[in-house]
Amino acid sequence: MSREPSNCPSRRRFLLQALGAGGAVAGMTIAPGVVLISTAAETNEPTAKPGAGADAAKRWGLLIDTRRCAEDCSACISACRQENGWEEPRDPDKDPQWIRKMKLTDQREEPISLPLMCQHCKHPPCASVCPTQATFKRADGIVLVDKHRCIGCRYCMIACPFQARFMPQRPLGTASPNHPRAKGAAEGCTLCVQRIDRGEQPACVERCAEQGNKALLFGDLNDPQSSISQALRQSGGSTIRAELRLEPAVHYQGIV
Ligand code: SF4
Ligand code: SF4
Repeated sequence: MSREPSNCPSRRRFLLQALGAGGAVAGMTIAPGVVLISTAAETNEPTAKPGAGADAAKRWGLLIDTRRCAEDCSACISACRQENGWEEPRDPDKDPQWIRKMKLTDQREEPISLPLMCQHCKHPPCASVCPTQATFKRADGIVLVDKHRCIGCRYCMIACPFQARFMPQRPLGTASPNHPRAKGAAEGCTLCVQRIDRGEQPACVERCAEQGNKALLFGDLNDPQSSISQALRQSGGSTIRAELRLEPAVHYQGIV
């Protein structure tokens, strides 16, 4: 069921080209003070208006302790499907899986159970290559797709080194009011932005805790006093494909 993130040299070349020599792309401002994309040069402009949901002072992220993630548990995946209205994939190589479990082996030959979803990169190549700016980064770091702007070109799918973007290829039987979905429009983990804007945790985090595993920790990476920042300071953590310098907002513990 799982797929390894591609390490293909041609794909990496494409990625580097997409980022450009300095990795810089222009920011996109949709209204005074409302900045959707800021990659190489982060902005100090004010955030969205009150009630708009995104706060530039925050950077939402996850800390996933793979040592607490039970190999046979898929509670986070079920919670994500229910919250966001995607179906059990009939073809795992093609159908959307906003979150999936990777079964890996570390350098000590120990098995690792690793939940993988959009890493909400600080410098998201999926946004850099999108010709219509359908893919954008909110001021608080959450990377989203505007389905109305997506033309289905799949550039973002090619650019994402984590294979975290999907495109429904069949008419959809389910949809959640949280996330209108359409055949031919790119999609991926939204970090449950609708829940975050209500002051709640992402559905996967909540369900994992209910199961008693508590492998997922959500919080503000910009706040040194947040639980996630303290856990990272005390116990460390790493990101996947760190050499790409995309600065994911998803950190992992227990991977060697
Ligand atoms: S993980 Fe992939 S889809 Fe998500 S922000 Fe990074 S490049 Fe974009
Ligand atoms: S598939 Fe949609 S979101 Fe992805 S790059 Fe093309 S237009 Fe942008």
